[in-house]
Amino acid sequence: MEEYNIKTRVVGVDISNEMTTYAIVDVRGNILAEDSFCTADYPDVDRFITELSEKIVMLVEENGGYETIRSIGVSAPSASSVSGCVENAANLPWKGVVPLAVMLRERIGLAVGLSNDAHISALGEHAFGCAHGMTNFIVVSLGVGVGSCFFAEGEEHRGKLGYAGEFGHTCVVDKGRMCGCGHQGCLEAYVGAAGIVRTAEEVMAEHPETPTLMREQEKLSPRVIFACCEQGDKLAIEVFRRTGQILGLGLANYASIVDPEAIILTGGISHAGHWLLDPVYESFEEHVFGNLRGKVKILLSKLDNRERDVLGASALAWSVPEYSLFK
Ligand SMILES: [Zn+2]
Repeated sequence: MEEYNIKTRVVGVDISNEMTTYAIVDVRGNILAEDSFCTADYPDVDRFITELSEKIVMLVEENGGYETIRSIGVSAPSASSVSGCVENAANLPWKGVVPLAVMLRERIGLAVGLSNDAHISALGEHAFGCAHGMTNFIVVSLGVGVGSCFFAEGEEHRGKLGYAGEFGHTCVVDKGRMCGCGHQGCLEAYVGAAGIVRTAEEVMAEHPETPTLMREQEKLSPRVIFACCEQGDKLAIEVFRRTGQILGLGLANYASIVDPEAIILTGGISHAGHWLLDPVYESFEEHVFGNLRGKVKILLSKLDNRERDVLGASALAWSVPEYSLFK
């Protein structure tokens, strides 16, 4: 039997509104064992933490034992790495401020780091993805929401409260569409999944005579619109042209402030490929500060979406000071 004496592993946990995934990850970012359960089954946070702790312990005991695990990193929506709390998460069952890092540390007896999904993505890209070896870069996640995080001089910029990089809620259209945050004209209202569907409805309303596959769909989503683009559907292509135009403008503003080596796009919407990216590049180059023109790379994440947050959480785990009840 193999002997484990050095702590060469961490546990990465990704909590989303649907699933909680937890995995044992080694120093190279290999996922050695992984499992998941449904977050919504635990509306009581105490029960959730108990369940998560027991499941992690079980997975660890089946895969090398406690003495191999250094620490735990957790990704959760609306989490702050500064406070260690999940704060007023709109899409999680637990309301108010939840001191999740401390709760988990007390149950498991190992150091726990906590951060939100946008920051976790950037840590994952830096440790295992496109941003490996970069010191100044921006990671933007495009999905239901639009999140971001940037590294400056090799360090993640967390901000005073741990929420730096709320790119989705920067204003791109004065008095524009209503956003879920209560403001008008936010980038997310145009580039988030619901915003793209809304653009599709606008484009169809503007061209009632033009045939489009989008009208034949039971339910529109960015994925469905992408599939229509692949069929050469002109109006669907126009939807991503408009989306890319606004995203490129937002990224140009962002890059003009940060002066990054690269912008890395991740999340489901980034899979729209060149239908989205061509207009993004064009708009970006048009709007970015002149001295940066042609010098900022816009890259697509190569990390698997499913693995990205668990790997990012494992990268966070390595950064927290070691603590163990089992030394
Ligand atoms: Zn907003």
